[in-house]
Amino acid sequence: MPKTKKVGPTRGLGARYGSTVRKRYVKIVTELKKPHRCPQCGFVRVKRQSVGVWVCGKCRFTFAGGAYIPSTKLGVIAKRAAKGSAMETVEKQVPVAEAETTETSTEETTE
Ligand SMILES: [Zn+2]
Repeated sequence: MPKTKKVGPTRGLGARYGSTVRKRYVKIVTELKKPHRCPQCGFVRVKRQSVGVWVCGKCRFTFAGGAYIPSTKLGVIAKRAAKGSAMETVEKQVPVAEAETTETSTEETTE
């Protein structure tokens, strides 16, 4: 009698890597493969083209997003910061943004 054929993203992995990691992998991969809503036309036709690159199958709108989902929490904050609103809340949550501004101020003494 043949074995039961297993389906799902982890079908090729067998019993390897541990159940917790496999479950986590399933969660990400199912989210990655399902169609997402397009920010341009509103249709649920957005697919991942590459890491962080998302393309809408309806209007060919290509945009940068998260590696595994089109929009991440941090991406939403960054977008808000780029717009110019709610700067105070961004500075508290993302101190990484300060690194870029400090580099440019070093060239003041050369004349
Ligand atoms: Zn679209």
